Amino acid sequence: MCESSKSERPELESGHFQETDGSGKKVSRRSFLGGMALGAGCLGAGTLIGEAIKNLGSEQGQNIPIQHNNERKAPPLGSLSVVVVQLLPENAEPHQGIEKISSGVRDALGRIALTTSHLYLNVRFTRDGHSPDTTRITEDGKQPAYSQRLLQLIGQAHAREESDMALVIVDSADTEKDYYAGLTVYDDKYPPVAFVRDVGGVSIGTIAHELGHMLAPEGVKRGLGHAWALQSWVRQDGDKEVKDWRHSPHVAPIQDIIAAGYGLEKDDSGKPNPYASRYSVMGNSALFDSMVDPTIPMFSSPELAFLDPTLSIRHITMPSMGTGQIPINYGGPDRAGITIDIPEDHILRQIAPNTDTLFIGPIVRSKQWSNPIDRMGVFATWSGGRDSAILNPSIWDESIKYSENSFEHVAYIDEQLGILVAAGQQSGQVYVRLVPLHTEEAQELIRAGQERLIKSLNI
Ligand SMILES: [Zn+2]
Repeated sequence: MCESSKSERPELESGHFQETDGSGKKVSRRSFLGGMALGAGCLGAGTLIGEAIKNLGSEQGQNIPIQHNNERKAPPLGSLSVVVVQLLPENAEPHQGIEKISSGVRDALGRIALTTSHLYLNVRFTRDGHSPDTTRITEDGKQPAYSQRLLQLIGQAHAREESDMALVIVDSADTEKDYYAGLTVYDDKYPPVAFVRDVGGVSIGTIAHELGHMLAPEGVKRGLGHAWALQSWVRQDGDKEVKDWRHSPHVAPIQDIIAAGYGLEKDDSGKPNPYASRYSVMGNSALFDSMVDPTIPMFSSPELAFLDPTLSIRHITMPSMGTGQIPINYGGPDRAGITIDIPEDHILRQIAPNTDTLFIGPIVRSKQWSNPIDRMGVFATWSGGRDSAILNPSIWDESIKYSENSFEHVAYIDEQLGILVAAGQQSGQVYVRLVPLHTEEAQELIRAGQERLIKSLNI
């Protein structure tokens, strides 16, 4: 299991760092540089993952990562570089060794490249010989450990010259704190640094998750956030599966669903779980550890829109008027999603207070499928599109039917926006349609969906 999926503390991710601020353990510059020297020359070869891609345009540096912009022309990233630091003092026994580390990192980078089709990161592996600077108490007593401060310094020092980000793999001893499997820290003056523990093995999901925190379009400082999920209308109650179909997004407005007590999925401590979504490695990253089908996208459609400002997103300003069919595509230059502003008094703010935008975009289960779009996802998003919560998370939700007897289904209903989101396909082209909610047509779509649902559940 990926512990990063449980216990990263966001406040650490935004901690500002100063070399001489006196907080925490100070690292003397001399011993620090000494440790660096050991690493030099051990494993220096740079490697390009995937092919280099052309720079697609010239309007660089727009700090408008997502949404509210139907004419976005900023180019995607040409190429970013990451330095991967194997932290292993001389004569220390590695937990995993460089072979496993580099294979895990390459797998994660390969999957990010497959998912985004534009983020091909240059990777350089190196070794750092710093010894642990502190200890932590375990079942076996006091064990050597690295403080977060030293890990950050090490990452920054290796990234400083020519890398956009650093990934430090703690390959001996452990981190001082063990509530995370990986952690990313930002400092506006330096490239971001992520640390990943590998005591229990090299986790592709954790590595990709931490890299995700460091990926952003050019000119944008911080990378992706996390991926929450609304509690599903199908849930496990002990041994029993409870299917509360009346609160499925096919038949109930989000207002009724939330009024019935549904909120964001919680973690063990009872707080909304930022790792709940199974549709992104920024959510439940452990689901992405296996390479069974490497074309399963690691990022959700709103995250892809954040990462690539050139994706065409249609912003609807008057949703309650309805729309005709809006073709939705995946993995190409065509329409990749729809956004709608969320007003301040919207009920979604009760469960996700910072929500400002509704994002409607495809859920793809495998890019290898001839019809890759499985169904239409509806997401609450905030912080510039970095963070999102999927509002129709159930795998029981209706999918797009590509067969002859295809039908349009309801993906989401919203009384405050006055809309029903219908999804379907015609001759293989998936589309979304906003239908004004208080029309006979909308009510008929809901009735038909309810009938199918009851039938499929054998109620
Ligand atoms: Zn995280």
